[in-house]
Amino acid sequence: MTRIAIVEGDGIGHEVIPVAEAVLELLHPEYEYFAIDVGFHRWEQTGCPCADRDIEALKMADAILFGAVTTPPMKDYQSVVLRIRKALDLYANLRPVKGNGFDIIIVRENTEGLYSGIEETGHDRATTLRLVTRSGTERIVRKAIGLASRKNGTLTIGHKANVIKSDVFFRDICIAEAKAAGIPFNDRYIDALSLDLLQHPDRYSVVVTTNMFGDILSDVASYLVGGLGLVPSANIGERYALFEPVHGSAPDIAGKNIANPVAALRSAAMLLDHLGDRDAAVCIEEEIQHVISAGIRTRDLGGTAGTREFGDAVLTGLRKH
Ligand code: ATP
Repeated sequence: MTRIAIVEGDGIGHEVIPVAEAVLELLHPEYEYFAIDVGFHRWEQTGCPCADRDIEALKMADAILFGAVTTPPMKDYQSVVLRIRKALDLYANLRPVKGNGFDIIIVRENTEGLYSGIEETGHDRATTLRLVTRSGTERIVRKAIGLASRKNGTLTIGHKANVIKSDVFFRDICIAEAKAAGIPFNDRYIDALSLDLLQHPDRYSVVVTTNMFGDILSDVASYLVGGLGLVPSANIGERYALFEPVHGSAPDIAGKNIANPVAALRSAAMLLDHLGDRDAAVCIEEEIQHVISAGIRTRDLGGTAGTREFGDAVLTGLRKH
């Protein structure tokens, strides 16, 4: 029995995840779906945003569909999604950005770098340790190399080695691995890369980079396809896999039925692809394109459709297949 954990989280997670879950249930009614309730709202109710037993329950799933969680900027609040990524060792964050004439996957290291959580705040100074390890770098670049060879593409290494020593370390390990694998590669400073990716997206195939640079670069790259409401992601480890939109909980638009559910739907498609059902993943993508072309669009794409209306249109289309 294939088990899927559904985590709505906070904010627009409560709106976009039910749309994506309905599509999964339509295409795979034989799977077992179970909900896990974590996030900032849970902290507000109970003082604990994510309990140990929630992590254990997530580990029971073959795949996790995840919405978004709010992380308030409070000194002692631990980010739920960072905790889950660490606990499940979801070291590779894959963020595909596809459009007319370009097909890019940003491969973001997901467990260390500036988000290692090794921090200290004193009265006069605060420090965050940027941890880059050999084993962490080797496994992320090997993942990226695998994707680049499958796509017959070039690997681009994004870094800031001119300023940060830990990125000299990261870059050199990536280059050594790419040479050993015999795949075409180049490397770019992350700031120049961010601009060039927008100006010449067709020049890129697979981009590998450290945690925070990858986080920022993928938000920037979402501009190429119409914004944050459209970009999905996969968080992959050796044993577990979690799929979530790149966007956050967007409290400013939550509860209004205006969030775009496409990123969540595409995350569900990536989940099915991961479980081996590539046909279903392709069907979801085709139906999204079909509905958008028919003029049914949410507000961020210039339309008037609500989250639920867009989801219903996709469901109706899929039922006809
Ligand atoms: P986080 O720190 O978790 O990334 P955030 O609030 O900084 O959260 P997002 O939640 O990703 O960032 O939202 C940024 C903005 O993008 C929101 O204010 C919202 O206007 C827009 N946005 C994000 N997701 C969507 C969506 N699915 N549909 C429409 N607009 C969205």
